[in-house]
Amino acid sequence: MDQAASFIYHIFMNRLIIANWKMNGSFQLIHEFQSIQRKLGTTIVVCPPSCYLSLFKSVPFSLGAQNCHCESCGAYTGEISATQLNELGCTYVILGHSERRMQNKETDDLINKKALQAIQRCLTPVICIGETLEERQENRFEHVLLSQIDRTTHLIPTDQYVIAYEPVWSIGTGLTPIAKDIQDIIALIRKRLGDNVTVIYGGSVNDKNASSLAEIPHLNGFLVGGASLRVRTFQSIVDAFQT
Ligand code: PEP
Repeated sequence: MDQAASFIYHIFMNRLIIANWKMNGSFQLIHEFQSIQRKLGTTIVVCPPSCYLSLFKSVPFSLGAQNCHCESCGAYTGEISATQLNELGCTYVILGHSERRMQNKETDDLINKKALQAIQRCLTPVICIGETLEERQENRFEHVLLSQIDRTTHLIPTDQYVIAYEPVWSIGTGLTPIAKDIQDIIALIRKRLGDNVTVIYGGSVNDKNASSLAEIPHLNGFLVGGASLRVRTFQSIVDAFQT
């Protein structure tokens, strides 16, 4: 992309800000989130624990889930299907979050199956990729990320999912990569998948660093964990994009 095209792209691209509540939240927080203000050209997605999804009525944002099963229905105690999430009003689902990769031993191939299932049920998968600190220090991170991309997105057209780049060492730690390193990873992702794909960053985004992170070229938005549990903080992050 030449410089002028890049400038226009940056100004007009749509923004996507996703709140991942993880296993947090309450009736009170749901109530407080009704006041979130959306900016033109910005999509806000709130991903609460699935037991709360039906409590969000006529809210100014989209709803997402934090996971779904790879099968459409069946004897899978404790699981939730993409069809059920769709019935509950979800339009997005986070897949392959590093916590699920580590705690639930989710593999890239399973994440790919879930993504295909989600798309069949009209949910946009938000596919998380990210290197560990060890992989970065050993300079293996590009190989790791490309392998995660290739396996998780297999057979899926690039305009049907979102890639969330979330370095594992940055999640919940208060540490963020320098802007140049995030920019390099975005370039790596776009080189592999094309400019069509939506790419967001996640990992310790907060109201203090959001404005500078929002300046990173070709970045479409954020996936926000801890800072999405405080409405005013989250609103500041949403407002950080100057579209
Ligand atoms: C996340 O869990 O996806 C995340 C980015 O968390 P945090 O913002 O708390 O680092």
